[in-house]
Amino acid sequence: MLIDTHCHLDFPEFDQDRDRVIQHAKEQGIGYIINIGSSLEGSRKSLELAKQYDFIYATVGLHPHEADSFNKEIEVELTDLGKKDKVVAMGEIGLDYFKNYSQPDNQKTLFATLLTLAKNLGLPAVIHNRQAQDDTLKILKETKPSKAVVHCFSGDEHFLKECLEMGFLVSFTCNITYKKAEVLRSLLRAVPMDRLMLETDAPFLSPEGLRGKRCEPAYVKFVAEEIARIKNLDVEEVARITSYNAKNFFNLK
Ligand SMILES: [Zn+2]
Repeated sequence: MLIDTHCHLDFPEFDQDRDRVIQHAKEQGIGYIINIGSSLEGSRKSLELAKQYDFIYATVGLHPHEADSFNKEIEVELTDLGKKDKVVAMGEIGLDYFKNYSQPDNQKTLFATLLTLAKNLGLPAVIHNRQAQDDTLKILKETKPSKAVVHCFSGDEHFLKECLEMGFLVSFTCNITYKKAEVLRSLLRAVPMDRLMLETDAPFLSPEGLRGKRCEPAYVKFVAEEIARIKNLDVEEVARITSYNAKNFFNLK
């Protein structure tokens, strides 16, 4: 059994065949899917999917791209959503200085606000960091979430070390299968197995060989296979450990 701990099945890329993609994941041995909210509308849709499918759970959150439009009403609504059944984390939240779709100052405010909200609601945090590791670390150290995962991990060894020291988990996507991903693979080598989770970030980041095509949760097996190869373990062992980690982290029933 594998768990895709981060995907976006609510995105329009799945409008034509969402149910088929979900059934296919189930047939391929995906035991749970965590659908990640990245906007207010996306968080609502994520929760709808969790209501519809027993093996899907939801998170609610606001991607840093949404930071410029963040306000008090949205915060109140996210607070309500965060208390619903089958909502298992706050996220994705964080900083993105690569695309910078929102002002960095607004991103920082949003990130700190929602980290605090996660803490108040007793929810773990799903962190997005892209080319913003110093500010991400600074805010994480100030707010000190008790449970967090840095998703689609990127950054340097120092960032990884600090995240692990704070007790956080990290997750990797199919981008570890890319030919030029040697840096990511060397980071992965430094992550203890008890801190690892699998994810696809579908519809993004299809594995090598399928690049440019839409990604889907069933492809999480490619992440497991690559980790098995790099860590010199059986795929079954990678599946067992990462599923155990995910069940614990998200408190899945
Ligand atoms: Zn994502």
